[in-house]
Amino acid sequence: MVSRNPFLTLIVTGVPGVGKTTVLREVSKILEERKVKHLVLNFGDFMLIAGKRLGLVEHRDQIRHLPLRRQLELQEEAAKAIVEEASSKLDESGVLLVDTHAIIRTSTGYWPGLPFGVVSVLKPDSIVVVESKPEEILARQMRDKSRYRADMSDIEIIKELLEIARSAAIASAVLVASSVYIVYNVEGDPSIAARKIVELIEKLR
Ligand code: ATP
Ligand code: AMP
Ligand code: MG
Repeated sequence: MVSRNPFLTLIVTGVPGVGKTTVLREVSKILEERKVKHLVLNFGDFMLIAGKRLGLVEHRDQIRHLPLRRQLELQEEAAKAIVEEASSKLDESGVLLVDTHAIIRTSTGYWPGLPFGVVSVLKPDSIVVVESKPEEILARQMRDKSRYRADMSDIEIIKELLEIARSAAIASAVLVASSVYIVYNVEGDPSIAARKIVELIEKLR
């Protein structure tokens, strides 16, 4: 049974380093200017809180290296906590944007970031896929010293991830009848992708 949250719900996905968090900061600025009540929640933050509490990780880039059953526990807990927080803060005029991944590259294979257990809890109206050229993504990863993305910092891995991330977003969207909206994050100006996402929000209402 497909249902929706009272507030609009967008899940924003894309290859590590493509610029999801950066673009969402720009989306937030635009929505603030327009006085649209919204919440940007980072799925990894919620997994990190749960993982730290259990003494499993200290840093966000350690999460995808945990045994898969552990990642699954953290993933399910994060999805529930996100909806709980959004439900307490947003009414039907609000917008929830979840910063996350449709696919996780683990040492035990490609693993869905949005399996049924997650999308059925988050109930997205739309799944956004942020994309850029593989060379741009690699350069962004290399420039960003705040993260440990060495396990993805290879042009062939990024090309494969781009392809699988798109398919994974579509597979998850099918489970809950979400749209899949592909947005290009232009080098040097993340506000272009942000404006596209705001256009999507306006059209979903
Ligand atoms: P992750 O999935 O690992 O959290 P992400 O998709 O959230 O990654 P960001 O952290 O937003 O990626 O961006 C990665 C790096 O790329 C950052 O240093 C950011 O400043 C830079 N960046 C993001 N968008 C652009 C852009 N349009 N042009 C140039 N640099 C960008
Ligand atoms: P991020 O900062 O978005 O890269 O998130 C940090 C880490 O959290 C990722 O590298 C993943 O290990 C984990 N993560 C984020 N979203 C999901 C998800 N939907 N499913 C599983 N793991 C996730
Ligand atoms: Mg991010």
